[in-house]
Amino acid sequence: MDIAPNTPLIDRLGRTHTSLRVSVTDRCNIRCFYCMPLENVRFKPRDELLTFEEMTRVVRVAARHGINKLRLTGGEPLVRSNLSQLIRMLKQVPGIAEIALTTNGILLPDQAADLKSAGLDRLNVSLDALSEAMFERITRRQGVQKVLAGIAAAQAAGFDNVRLNAVAIQNLTEGEIVPLANFARENDLHLRFIEFMPLDADRAWDKSQVLSGRQLREIIARDVAPLNEVKRDDQSQPAVDYQYADGVQRVGFISSVTQPFCGTCNRLRITAEGQLRNCLFGTEEWDARRIVRNAGTDADLSELLHSCVQAKKPSHGMDSPEFVPPERAMYQIGG
Ligand code: SAM
Ligand code: SF4
Repeated sequence: MDIAPNTPLIDRLGRTHTSLRVSVTDRCNIRCFYCMPLENVRFKPRDELLTFEEMTRVVRVAARHGINKLRLTGGEPLVRSNLSQLIRMLKQVPGIAEIALTTNGILLPDQAADLKSAGLDRLNVSLDALSEAMFERITRRQGVQKVLAGIAAAQAAGFDNVRLNAVAIQNLTEGEIVPLANFARENDLHLRFIEFMPLDADRAWDKSQVLSGRQLREIIARDVAPLNEVKRDDQSQPAVDYQYADGVQRVGFISSVTQPFCGTCNRLRITAEGQLRNCLFGTEEWDARRIVRNAGTDADLSELLHSCVQAKKPSHGMDSPEFVPPERAMYQIGG
């Protein structure tokens, strides 16, 4: 297959891919039960992870095919040393318009200023509970105060529109919803709730644990303030946003389980060891590391990107009786 350098990454359903999630590590400093196992985590050996140069090369080729937005993730991206250096390298790639990062926030007090000066554009901080007891139940570690200090450090460093991501779990985190919403409104944070997806390493997910976007919206409209849906400018955004009727902030709902948005998906992923994926729930991977470590050419990478996109399925198929969760858990893919 000969692919011209600027051929866009359009799949068989006409979805144009412009966003790439880059996992920089599978390691993490906490142990959220919906993502990692509590013990005996098997991390990839360091030499299997892509180097910053290797990641930048893959991104450079992807950008020639229309990727313009990057999100750095993991594992916990801030445990990868010198992450700011990677951001500086990626900022130089022609065509990359925005670099965002998703973090659990624990290391932000030390790193926020550095990330800002490296050119990071946007920050999402994940926080599911404000009570230390619930935070510890979820993450199997202590850390709320560090995350709160991290959010404050990010805002002090000049990050505007920091987003707060909260996974909501039925029969567990109901008591956190209203405090999180109020906290976000008081601190100028755009809160988004995410439905619990079957990507936990323990494979204990059950549909009965999903607190749906709709349920969350009803609780917030009843107990915080009435909500008005915001018209979506960008259809590929997974969150449906609502404006509080009193004008103070917005809140969003990412209903990946109950209202999948696969039809407008524009994302690709690359794992920390350089495997391209076209879906969180995909079972197939395309090996970019083999190419970059074996004297492969940019044309080989172009071909790999296009093969990955061409094989994308119409939807994640979670509702089908044949659905099997991917072998890898969230921290191994890059959320
Ligand atoms: N460690 C960083 C963090 O937690 O923000 C980045 C990686 S984490 C895998 C990215 C996002 O995925 C987080 O917001 C996390 O809450 C979410 N996540 C992890 N496992 C999930 C699951 N099973 N269902 C829904 N969201 C999940
Ligand atoms: Fe770590 Fe993020 Fe997974 Fe939690 S969700 S265990 S913070 S990678």
